[in-house]
Amino acid sequence: MQSSTIRWRQSTLPRHDSRFARCVFWFIAALSVTIRVSAQNPQHNGRIVIAASVALDGKGHVLRDTHIVIEGSRIVSIDPNAGPVDYDLRGLTVLPGWIDAHAHVTWSFGKDGKNAGPGGTTQDAAYSAASNAWVTLMAGFTTVQSVGSPLDGPIRDAIDGGQLPGPKILTSFEPLQGRGEQTGTPDEIRAFIRKQKQAGADVIKIFASQSIRTGGGMTLSQDQLNAACDEAKKQGLRTLVHAYKEAVRAATFAGCTQIEHGTMATDDDLRLMAQKGTYLDPQAGLVIENYLLNKQKYLGTPGYTEEGFAAMERVLSLNHDLVQRATKIPGLKIVFGTDAVAGAHGRNAEEFIDRVRDGKVDPMAAMVSANSLGAEALGMADKIGSIAPGLQADIIALDGDPLKDITAVRRVVFVMKRGLVYKNVARAR
Ligand SMILES: [Zn+2]
Repeated sequence: MQSSTIRWRQSTLPRHDSRFARCVFWFIAALSVTIRVSAQNPQHNGRIVIAASVALDGKGHVLRDTHIVIEGSRIVSIDPNAGPVDYDLRGLTVLPGWIDAHAHVTWSFGKDGKNAGPGGTTQDAAYSAASNAWVTLMAGFTTVQSVGSPLDGPIRDAIDGGQLPGPKILTSFEPLQGRGEQTGTPDEIRAFIRKQKQAGADVIKIFASQSIRTGGGMTLSQDQLNAACDEAKKQGLRTLVHAYKEAVRAATFAGCTQIEHGTMATDDDLRLMAQKGTYLDPQAGLVIENYLLNKQKYLGTPGYTEEGFAAMERVLSLNHDLVQRATKIPGLKIVFGTDAVAGAHGRNAEEFIDRVRDGKVDPMAAMVSANSLGAEALGMADKIGSIAPGLQADIIALDGDPLKDITAVRRVVFVMKRGLVYKNVARAR
C-alpha cells in the first residue's frame, strides 16, 4: 500500500505541462484511493487569476472579457485588470461548477457486470464508488447530493477529509422508506428522522411513492409525511421526497423541501409547489435512458423486470411532458438532478441535453438550475453556485457555448474545486 502524501497544489498542474506529465497525473489520480491527497485542504494561499472571454455567473448573467481572482479556496474579485493570468480560458465558456441534486455515487455494476445496487461493501464496490465520485467531478460537477444509501456517508467523509478526489457530497444516510402503516406512527417517524440527524445526515430522503416501475402508488399517509417533514425542519434539515402523482401534492402540503421525479403531477400540483416555494427536481431523460442503454446489466437484478422496463419506456415520455409543463409554471423553482445510478456516473451532464432538447427548457435556465438555484435549494447560495466575490472557487469551463449548442456540456475541459485545479485540458484542443 502506498502511504506517500501527494499535495495537489496548483503547482502540480502547470499550465504548460507535457502530455506525459498529464498521463502520470491522471494515473495517480485514478489510484488515489490508497493515497492520501490533500485536495480538500488547500496548502496554497496563493493568488490565481483566470482570464475568461465569456463567463456565465450562475445567476443568468453573462460576464465578458474579465478576470476572476481567487485566493485560497475563494473568489475574491472579478477584475478585468487583474494579473498576471495563470489560466487563460478565453475562447471557452466559464461557469460555476455544477450541482447535481440527486445522484447515487455508491451505485455500481458488480464484477459480473450486473447491477450491484448502492449498498455494496466489498473492496471492489468501494473502488467503484471512488471512481464514480472521480468521474463525476471530472464531468464538471463540484457538488452532488447523493441520497438513499448509508454508504454515501463514508465517501462523503473521505472526500471532505482530503483522502479522495471527488465532488462535495451531501447525503441522507438511511432513507425513510414508505411502507404504509408499517412505516410507523408519526412519533416513530419523528424518532427515525432524529436518528438520521444524529448519524450525520445533511438532508432527509423520503420515499412517498412506490417505484414508477410498479405503478408509483403512494406509500405514506398525509399524517406520516407531515410528521417526517416537520421533524426534519425542527432538526434544521431539508427533505427530498421521491414522489409521483398524488404524493406530489401531499408532500407539498406537508411542507417538504423538494420533490424528486414528480412524474404525473398535475399543473395544479405544480402551481401549488410554486406558491409554497417547494423545489422540483424532475428528470427529463438520463436516468431512464441509462437504464434502457444498460438493460441487460439491470434485468433480473432486484426490482428490474421486463414489465418494469416496459413501464420505463412509457414513463420517459411522461417525464418529457412533466418538464415541458413545469417550465411554463410561473415561479416554480426547478433544480437540476440526474438520479445517476450505475452506468450514468460521469455522464450527468447528458440530463442538460435532455432538458433542453426534450423538456424545452431554455439553455440558460438549465445552467442556472445546476448553479445558483441548485445552491439555493441546498441552502448554500452564500457558498457555491455563482461566480462572485466571497464564494467558493468552484469553476469549470466548457469547450463551446451551451447557450447555442447544449452538447457543449459534454466538453468540460477545466475543473477547479475550492481553488484547486483537478482538470485542465483546455490548451490541448
Ligand atoms: Zn434516486
